[in-house]
Amino acid sequence: MTADLKDIFVIGGGINGVGIARDAIGRGYSVTLAEMNDLASATSSASTKLIHGGLRYLEYYEFRLVREALKEREVVWANAPHIVWPLRFVLPHHKDLRPAWLIRLGLFLYDHIGGRKELPATADIDMTKDEVGKPLKPLFTKGFEYSDCWVNDARFVVLAAMDARDRGANILVREKVISATYEGTSWKVVTKNQISGEETVHHARMVINASGPWVDHIIGDALGKPDDKNVRLVQGSHMIVKKMFDHKRCYIFQNKDGRIIFSIPYEEDFTLIGTTDHDFKGDLDKDKVAATEEELLYLCNAASEYFAKPVTRDDVVWSYSGVRPLYDDGASAAQEATRDYVLRQSKEECDNSIIHIFGGKITTARMLAESVLKKIEMKLGPKGKKWTKVARLPGGDFNASAFDDLLARLKSEHGYLSDRLAYRLMRLYGTKAWDLLEGITDTDGLGQCFGADLYEAEVRYLIENEWAMTAEDILFRRTKCGLHFTSDQTAALEAYLKAYWAGKA
Ligand code: FAD
Repeated sequence: MTADLKDIFVIGGGINGVGIARDAIGRGYSVTLAEMNDLASATSSASTKLIHGGLRYLEYYEFRLVREALKEREVVWANAPHIVWPLRFVLPHHKDLRPAWLIRLGLFLYDHIGGRKELPATADIDMTKDEVGKPLKPLFTKGFEYSDCWVNDARFVVLAAMDARDRGANILVREKVISATYEGTSWKVVTKNQISGEETVHHARMVINASGPWVDHIIGDALGKPDDKNVRLVQGSHMIVKKMFDHKRCYIFQNKDGRIIFSIPYEEDFTLIGTTDHDFKGDLDKDKVAATEEELLYLCNAASEYFAKPVTRDDVVWSYSGVRPLYDDGASAAQEATRDYVLRQSKEECDNSIIHIFGGKITTARMLAESVLKKIEMKLGPKGKKWTKVARLPGGDFNASAFDDLLARLKSEHGYLSDRLAYRLMRLYGTKAWDLLEGITDTDGLGQCFGADLYEAEVRYLIENEWAMTAEDILFRRTKCGLHFTSDQTAALEAYLKAYWAGKA
């Protein structure tokens, strides 16, 4: 099969690829994006899920990165108030680690360099009186708190892809780029469908290599430069344990090795603890990136330094792991490698018509896309202006302060929803929850219940609107219902999906 000539072909459906595709289509460029698995199936669903400046990057003098990220927090929150919300972080003072004056200085900078308007400021805490002191060992008597935001990372990617699609981008999933050849004035890109095996030839004036951890693989295979190594792959793992505390604030714990770990309230019933930092030595194509026993024990020990009740390996309900595709700046320790992004485009390399993306953060993906668009404009000629700073993501067309009112409206209009399900739907779909429930008037109308409040209506919505295909797409990326599913319930969902796709064949 051969497709028409497009302006831009994007390789990779993580936050960077979809962010660029969305910005470009909104400005009037024609765009195809190919993702070899599910959207957000790699690093972009394996993050700590923070829209943050990165307090600890101040120690590495990454002032520009921190400032840019801090400024972006309130932009992202305003554009996606269903999947992004503010969090308060409690940093207990540890008398053997960073001195209080250094923490106060860091927090002062954090409060003042990044255009904070809505988020509350830093404060001191008396841990002997505040509820946040209760789950911790009594030796932590003093603490500090500051603000950042939470994001549902996998949904952030899918919503940006939906918006790009609705504006006309051609978003292909389970479509792997197997070769890309520059033919003098345009690119010939060949993709292979990972289900049917069918190959398609695409033509585009520019290629954007947003393949995250695979960025050097594309450079090696597409450009025939296997020795051109640019990324440092740094693995980071998280674990989910049963709820360690009842309040809504998070903890940021300093560890004796100089690193920090977070403990964050997660999906109502759990606590998310992470992350680790070590060089990834495996094979991205062959090995599933998964938390190692060593990482889980490291996280248990680090958290147990602070929590009064020790966190043990038996408490771990689930874990996930991702690989940061960091630009290799020669730092000796994985935790010191820059978190900033680097774009590479050179005249020698196919006449400026390919841009490689290294590193970056979910927080700053929108700004990264704007930087890429600047380069695209120089090559292809300008089209529309910057637009994404004030553009809502699907379902996010309401003010954050109206969330509770909207939730109440959803419950009153769909009185058959349990409180828990209504809240979950509002958090995942925002105003799109009304689309998902269109025409449904009672519980029967939701169809088969697979478990944990996951009904057929939601499964169908995800298949028809959000590219979901497998049980994993639904249980662990579009939703986190998988945390509550038994193996029998997962098998029932798999059987349903098998029958659904067989009916389509
Ligand atoms: P990816 O999400 O990996 O996307 C690349 C995509 O390209 C993949 O889906 C892959 O399948 C696809 N692909 C590869 N090769 C091909 C091919 N040949 N054909 C088609 N598709 C292909 N950032 C924050 O802002 N806040 C955080 O709290 C945070 N925490 C983090 C914690 C950890 C442990 C890690 C690992 C990262 C964290 N980050 C955080 C950073 C952030 O997650 C990444 O910078 C971001 O997700 C990278 O996105 P990406 O699009 O470049 O890569």
